[in-house]
Amino acid sequence: MRTPGQVIDIARTLQQAGFETWCVGGAVRDALLGEAHLDWDLATAATPTQVRKLFRRTVPVGIEFGTIGVLDRDHVMHEVTTFRRDVKTDGRHAVVEFGASLDEDLARRDFTINAIAYDPIDHRLHDPFGGQIDLTRRVVRAVGEADARMREDRLRALRAIRFAARFGFEIAPDTWAAIVESAPFLTRLSPERVKQELEKTMEQVLAPSVAFVRWREAGAFASLVPMLAEVRDDTLRAIDALPRPGLAGRPLRKTLRVAALFSEGGAKPAERALRDLRFSNQDTANVSSLVDRWSRFGPSLAETMASGVLPADAELRRLAANVGRLRVAGFVRLAAARWSAMGGVSPALVRRLHRRLLTIAFREPIELADLAIDGDDLRSAGIAIGPALGRLLHALLQRVIDDPAANTRDALLEAARDLASLSETA
Ligand code: ATP
Ligand code: MG
Repeated sequence: MRTPGQVIDIARTLQQAGFETWCVGGAVRDALLGEAHLDWDLATAATPTQVRKLFRRTVPVGIEFGTIGVLDRDHVMHEVTTFRRDVKTDGRHAVVEFGASLDEDLARRDFTINAIAYDPIDHRLHDPFGGQIDLTRRVVRAVGEADARMREDRLRALRAIRFAARFGFEIAPDTWAAIVESAPFLTRLSPERVKQELEKTMEQVLAPSVAFVRWREAGAFASLVPMLAEVRDDTLRAIDALPRPGLAGRPLRKTLRVAALFSEGGAKPAERALRDLRFSNQDTANVSSLVDRWSRFGPSLAETMASGVLPADAELRRLAANVGRLRVAGFVRLAAARWSAMGGVSPALVRRLHRRLLTIAFREPIELADLAIDGDDLRSAGIAIGPALGRLLHALLQRVIDDPAANTRDALLEAARDLASLSETA
């Protein structure tokens, strides 16, 4: 176990003051799996007040639940939580009580793999629920009686599915049965929580389709996101073909994975579902506009591509214009992911489409602003003002999209005069 030195120091300080202290939770689990984990949480017999007295710099991060943040020399925070037991639960939140033992503290944790304690000074593991066996057998299993544990906190159903998909584990039969039983009661969770689970799944799981197939099979989608109650496998597998959103930057990655999840039923239902889940206005707009473009232009594009050829350039310019310059990259990546999950389109051809469409979108005239003339030029050439002017500019753009060579001042003014006189005589 490679416990960070700062965490060992905090544990030592607490132990030397006479308080039993252990590393617990995700870091112990991940270390046993041979994976690095950033946050090493500590559980201790010391009360929050006692913890605060022992360290110079502390932050009361969740004092009512017994959690104190201890800042190390480098101002990195480590969470130290007093051993606790649940005295009352309501399907999500628990009222906790201090003065519990380590075993009681581990017993209130959700899954056996998350209920292993490690003493970083004596290098001892304490594992009363067989978490290590489940890690080697690759099983997510509720601590204690699965049904009761899911009733105490409905979020655990979604957490079990996320951990199983993240580590490629099975879910123990009784735990799975309890998750299925839980599904109708998942409406108890706030939309914010559900969104958070969806996002964590997108971020932590390499192949989220495994998780979302279980959401569907368990009935979690039927309860929480009805438009996904019968979402197809290949729609879900498209998410796997897209990279995980990182912790910072790259907002397109998150947009794309979420768009893939909601890409089946059209933009309006997607928008409604995202709003219901309390996605931000910005996220909702980004995702639903991608889904909109995919549902409008994906099918005919797929048809051409499936025949083994790229659409003609003029067609691609029209596509880029319809999708919108700034959405082209996202659109092609969403299309590529959907096609890779569905099959039928050659990946090499998809790569060519990607390159061609991006070149077109950024180098060729596809927007009004790209035209060699603007409204003022038309006015000075004596062409009538008003709504007809806008229509005229759009007509010129269509010509230029068909033939970019026509995008010169002279050619466009001449075309404009022709079009204007046509509409006058009409
Ligand atoms: P991650 O890498 O996703 O952070 P984690 O195991 O650290 O995984 P957290 O949500 O950070 O998960 O929770 C830390 C620990 O607290 C868990 O390992 C588990 O022991 C306990 N825990 C968290 N949420 C619950 C819950 N809803 N019910 C019971 N125990 C929980
Ligand atoms: Mg954690």
